[in-house]
Amino acid sequence: MQYNSTRNNNIKVSSAQAIKQGLSEEGGLFVPESFPKVELAEIAQMSKKSYNERAYFVLNKFLTDFSTEDLKNCISSAYTKEKFGTDAIAPVYKLNDSVYFLELWHGPTCAFKDMALQILPHFLTTSMKMTNEEKEIIILVATSGDTGKAALEGFKDVNGTRIIVFYPDNGVSEIQKLQMVTQRGNNVSVAAVKGNFDDAQSGVKKIFTDNDYKSLLDRNGFKLSSANSINWGRLVPQIVYYFSAYADLLASGEIELGDEINVVVPTGNFGNILASYYAKKMGLPIKKFICASNENNVLTDFIKTGVYDKTRQFHTTISPSMDILISSNLERFLYDLSDGNDTLITELMTKLATDGKYEVPAEIKAKMQELFDADCCDDKETMASIKATFVDGGYVTDTHTAVGKCVYDKYVQRTGDTTKTVIASTASPFKFNQSVLIALEDYNFVTGKDEFELLDMLEKKSGMKIPESLAELKNRTPIFDTVVEKDEMANTVSDFLKVE
Ligand SMILES: *Cc1c(COP(=O)(O)O)cnc(C)c1O
Repeated sequence: MQYNSTRNNNIKVSSAQAIKQGLSEEGGLFVPESFPKVELAEIAQMSKKSYNERAYFVLNKFLTDFSTEDLKNCISSAYTKEKFGTDAIAPVYKLNDSVYFLELWHGPTCAFKDMALQILPHFLTTSMKMTNEEKEIIILVATSGDTGKAALEGFKDVNGTRIIVFYPDNGVSEIQKLQMVTQRGNNVSVAAVKGNFDDAQSGVKKIFTDNDYKSLLDRNGFKLSSANSINWGRLVPQIVYYFSAYADLLASGEIELGDEINVVVPTGNFGNILASYYAKKMGLPIKKFICASNENNVLTDFIKTGVYDKTRQFHTTISPSMDILISSNLERFLYDLSDGNDTLITELMTKLATDGKYEVPAEIKAKMQELFDADCCDDKETMASIKATFVDGGYVTDTHTAVGKCVYDKYVQRTGDTTKTVIASTASPFKFNQSVLIALEDYNFVTGKDEFELLDMLEKKSGMKIPESLAELKNRTPIFDTVVEKDEMANTVSDFLKVE
């Protein structure tokens, strides 16, 4: 299997090269040149298999240059009961006869980014080995919270890599900060940057584009890389769990082989929902994709009108991991809908960069609307949805998943479509405990309580267990206390790597 760039069909690289490189040189994203087909009989087989066997079956179709042994090692290092607390890895929870939550948050950081970031480091080190790259990889991350911790957990103690995470000193929640400054591992470093997320991010970008600095690292045997969500190595593991969810529904007799299901995904960067679309292209019976957004509803408008317009107000919401105005993985979707029209994609992406908006041709809009539905909800509706799911179904969702459930309810109201539906559940409610408790009780209930009191309160209310990785933060001593000016971030990297 070879990979093209969405902006140049003449580029063809192996999966190892695509994963190592991240982004194509002209700015395009790597996409598989074709989609391998999966037969219904093979899906039936999957229902008798473990998550790791299902993962091997799907990943092996894309990472064809990886040896069987290497790929199996990547999978078994990433998805363990020890890290995910369950052999199912991504279990399906039945809310009622038509709604199922695909729980993607049993990993070490309690959010769905673990599904990809637990395996990416192994893909990356394997790809480096396969392409005879001898340098040590340095992962630089600027984070607004979730990604930094998930990347730290994924890369910690992975041979041949080191990771440095920068977070804005006043821009992350108390629990997110604690998760990062107490991070263990022999190859990790964490620093706070004075400023906001943009300051941290532009500091990291500056290091990435500083050629003098890169050659200094190069002379010392290091190579910079990123754990960015546009890397093919982050997208491909996400296809697996849609097959897995379908196989589970089949195994438990909820559906018959070949039945179509609907999928709802709370969306930000369009990675997770794109993975479900790729699963359908491979043969998974999915009827509708329902794209759920919070108040940053640029995708809702796009799917309804065909006009992508990021020139709008940015809203800070209680589902912060979806507070995004540029959904970078949308580029892959448009490439697919246009049958690989690299000229069109280059044109649209250039328009987005210069004018902040673009409109897709009518045929593309029509194809998109045939398969995709979209809607959005604000914080108030999200809160009401958390409460309603608890009162009616005894199940507590986090704020992101609640956006998905809220949009699903609107969809059923509007269309009357009661097809069995899988809603991607993207974070543990304990990770967003304060908003969840306000939704279930009220503001007074949480006033003056610290993070650990909130965790206890939510445990009592929900009947769910506090995830071990959050509970144990209470007893951990912070290891990293560095706070740097935004112009000094390169020095922090040099100190950590001991280069001058
Ligand atoms: C990242 C994230 C999302 C959005 O996923 P995309 O792949 O960016 O669309 C949704 N929910 C949570 C909890 C996340 O961390």
